[in-house]
Amino acid sequence: MLERVPLLAKELDDYADVVEPGTIERIRALAEPLRGARVLHVNATAYGGGVAELLSTHVALLRSVGIESEWQVMSGSDEFFAVTKAVHNALQGAQVEWTPAMQQIYLERVLHNALIFEGDWDYVVMHDPQPAAMREFVRQPEGSNTKWVWRCHIDLTDANPQVWEFFRPYVEQYDASVFTMPQFVPASLQMSRVVHAPPCIDPLSVKNLYLAQPFVDEISKSYGLRPNDPIICQISRFDPWKDPVGVIEAFRIVQAQCPTAQLVLAGSMATDDPEGFHYWEVSEAAAAGDPNIHLLSNIQQVGSVQINAFQRAADVVVQKSLREGFGLTVSEGLWKGRPVVGGRCGGITLQIEDGVDGYLVDSVESCAQRVLELLLDPDRADKMGATGREHVRHSFLSTRELEDWLRLLVAL
Ligand code: UDP
Repeated sequence: MLERVPLLAKELDDYADVVEPGTIERIRALAEPLRGARVLHVNATAYGGGVAELLSTHVALLRSVGIESEWQVMSGSDEFFAVTKAVHNALQGAQVEWTPAMQQIYLERVLHNALIFEGDWDYVVMHDPQPAAMREFVRQPEGSNTKWVWRCHIDLTDANPQVWEFFRPYVEQYDASVFTMPQFVPASLQMSRVVHAPPCIDPLSVKNLYLAQPFVDEISKSYGLRPNDPIICQISRFDPWKDPVGVIEAFRIVQAQCPTAQLVLAGSMATDDPEGFHYWEVSEAAAAGDPNIHLLSNIQQVGSVQINAFQRAADVVVQKSLREGFGLTVSEGLWKGRPVVGGRCGGITLQIEDGVDGYLVDSVESCAQRVLELLLDPDRADKMGATGREHVRHSFLSTRELEDWLRLLVAL
C-alpha cells in the first residue's frame, strides 16, 4: 500500500466566521450527493512545497463534509526524485536531457507504486508529473468505475516538448485534468474535461492563523531579527525558479538606502527536491556572511509557526519567482495584511493586483525599487495589505477550492 499521510481533523463550520456569508451552506449543498464517496489524493511528498500544504487541508475538509477521503504519498528514491525534479524543470521550460535511462527510472518506480496501490476508489486524483503514469499501470478491480483526475500545479506554457510529449499520452488517459490557469494548458492536450482552479490557503492552519504581535516579536528575536527595523521576507524552497539570489541582489540595493533593513529567506528542504541543498549553498555564497541576511530552513526548526510569524513581522513580503505555478506564499503574505512584491509570472499574477495590494516586478532593480517604496510609506503598505487580505478572502481560501473540487466530482 502507498504510505498514508495522517491528518488533523478539520471542521467546515469552523470556517464560518472567516469566509464570506453563504459559503458554508453552498458547500454543504454541493457535497450532499457525494456523501460516502471514496476519494484518494496522491502526490510525491508529505511536506515541503505547496501541494503538501494544500492537501493537508483539502483532504481533511472533504472528510468533514462526509466524503471518505485519504491522502497517500508515492514511494520514491533518490534516483527517482532526481529524475522527477528534472521533469519539473523541463516542464517549466528548462533545457533538460530526457534520456531513455531517465524514462526507465521514472516508469519503473511508477510501476512499483502502481503494484502496491490498493483500494477501490470512486475518485483518484494524481498530483503533478511524479505519479502521472500511474493511471496506465494500476489494475482496477472488475466492475470498478473509478474516475481519474490529473491535477497539474505547473505552468506548462513553455514546457520542453520532448518531456511533455512523453507525459501527454499518460495524462490523456485521465477522465479530467485540473490546471491553475487556462494559460497553462498545452494546446496539444486532448481531453474532454479540462478544469481551471487555482489553489488556496487555509486561514485556520497554524501557518495562517492570527498571532499576537508580542509573540511575533519574540519569535523574530529568537531568530536574531530586530522587530523594530524593517524586515523583508521571502518564504520558498531553495530553487533557482524562486530566485533567492535575485532577492539577495535586490536586498543589496535596498540596503544602500535603508541600511538597517533585514532579509529573511526561509525555505524547507522537501524530500522530493534534491536540488535544495545545492541552492542553499548558492544562496549562502550570495549572502556572503551579511548579518542582516537570515537564511533559514526547517533545519533551524523553521516550521509553520515561524513562517506565520516572519510573514507577519515583514514590512514587505517578496516572492520574486521567475516561473511559478501558483505561489501560495503570496496569498499567505496578503492574508496577513502585508503587501507583496512578486515576480510577474504564473499564478502570482492572479493574486497580486499591481499597485493595489502589491507590485508585479520583472527585474532585480524593479523589485528593489518597489520594496523601497513600500518601506518608505508604511501607511500605504498597510492599506495595500488590508486590500490584499480581502482579495484573498474572496478568491483564495480553502473553501473556494473545496467548492471547485466538489463541482468537478459531481460533474464526473
Ligand atoms: N513553506 C514552508 N516552509 C518553508 C518554505 C515554504 O512551510 O520553509 C511553505 C510555504 O509557506 C507555502 C509552501 O511551502 O505554503 C510553498 O508553496 P508555493 O506554492 O509558494 O511554492 P512551491 O514550493 O509549491 O513551488
